[in-house]
Amino acid sequence: MTSIDSAGLKRMFDAIAAAIDADKDRLCQLDGVIGDADHGIAMALGFGAVRDALASLDLSAIEPTILLNTAAKSFLNAVGASSGPLYATAFMRGAAAVKGKAILEDADIIAMLRAMAQGIQDRGKAELGEKTMVDAWLPAAQAAGAAQEAGKTLLESLETALAAAERGAEATKNMIAAKGRSSRLGERSLGHMDPGAASAVTIVKAMRDSLA
Ligand code: ADP
Ligand code: MG
Repeated sequence: MTSIDSAGLKRMFDAIAAAIDADKDRLCQLDGVIGDADHGIAMALGFGAVRDALASLDLSAIEPTILLNTAAKSFLNAVGASSGPLYATAFMRGAAAVKGKAILEDADIIAMLRAMAQGIQDRGKAELGEKTMVDAWLPAAQAAGAAQEAGKTLLESLETALAAAERGAEATKNMIAAKGRSSRLGERSLGHMDPGAASAVTIVKAMRDSLA
């Protein structure tokens, strides 16, 4: 059993910020093909702002729910692109899922992950198959939930989630964009990975590396 406190969650956000930073150019390139080439910049700005905001918190004095709401607010303020409100909602829902807990056990982390994915879907109203980050986040959350319920460890559950996110992101190549900026391309979006699904994989990977 893994126990994650606010300091552990901060380490998770630091790991995500570093991973997104390293992935920034690839994400911009992917967005350049079917969008406006800013996805890597938007995500790096967002997670950079989260990292800076969390650095000024007294982690011994705040619960995970406050930390996650701080992350939501700073991400939203930093990002003008459509990924801004989507991830802000994800972190707010994650915050609600762990409300009142000082320490997060395996099941709490998985509940947080599932709430984040659900928040992204509720905010953007994208269904599976519409070539968005939902195509990576939803299967990842479902796989993590199923693994957790089957008694797997946090590491095993996050491994399963990562594999599902990777499959989902890969599958967006065969989808026609139906939501967001790239939907204007219609069939011309075929054959290209959705940048939001690609960054979702990077995030889930950093979560696996830092939490488990
Ligand atoms: P913008 O499209 O405003 O430039 P970004 O480039 O940061 O924003 O993000 C683009 C990504 O946002 C897309 O690749 C897609 O995954 C995701 N996205 C766009 N609209 C939606 C939506 N309605 N629901 C879920 N994800 C969406
Ligand atoms: Mg863009």
